[in-house]
Amino acid sequence: MLTKRTAVPVAPSTSSTQRVSSGHPIIPCVTRIKTQYSRHEDRLETLRTQDKVCEVCGKRLAIHKCGICGRNVCEKHFDKRKGICSVCSDLMCQVCGKRLSVDACIVCGRLICRSCSVELQPGIRVCTPCYENLPEVLSERPELSYLLRYIRKRH
Ligand SMILES: [Zn+2]
Ligand SMILES: [Zn+2]
Ligand SMILES: [Zn+2]
Ligand SMILES: [Zn+2]
Repeated sequence: MLTKRTAVPVAPSTSSTQRVSSGHPIIPCVTRIKTQYSRHEDRLETLRTQDKVCEVCGKRLAIHKCGICGRNVCEKHFDKRKGICSVCSDLMCQVCGKRLSVDACIVCGRLICRSCSVELQPGIRVCTPCYENLPEVLSERPELSYLLRYIRKRH
């Protein structure tokens, strides 16, 4: 906005000079406020754009949207390669990396989705890589050898 010099009321050296006469020139005050602003820039940015705050950390600006859960997330909590948020990424099937996991393989502990696992018994799942070599895999895990029963039953 252009302010013509004439628009500024020229103080007749009475009331307005008294207001600033406390010994604090105006410019240093403004500078101090600006410094405080930039110091809390992150917080101010968050407050200004409350609808776009990362739903994982709640602090940074959300600039991405998760392709699975739809959360708005910040740069740090987004996996660009997969297009998903860190929460979904942590829950992703560790075999295919494409679907959300439903369980963990009882043998290797990997997170697995329905497509990448075999349910031996209700609540007992193994990932397909383990399942394919179950007798071999279980020969190294005697405490899980009881699982062999379940494959034999199926075949
Ligand atoms: Zn975040
Ligand atoms: Zn997500
Ligand atoms: Zn999978
Ligand atoms: Zn496994």
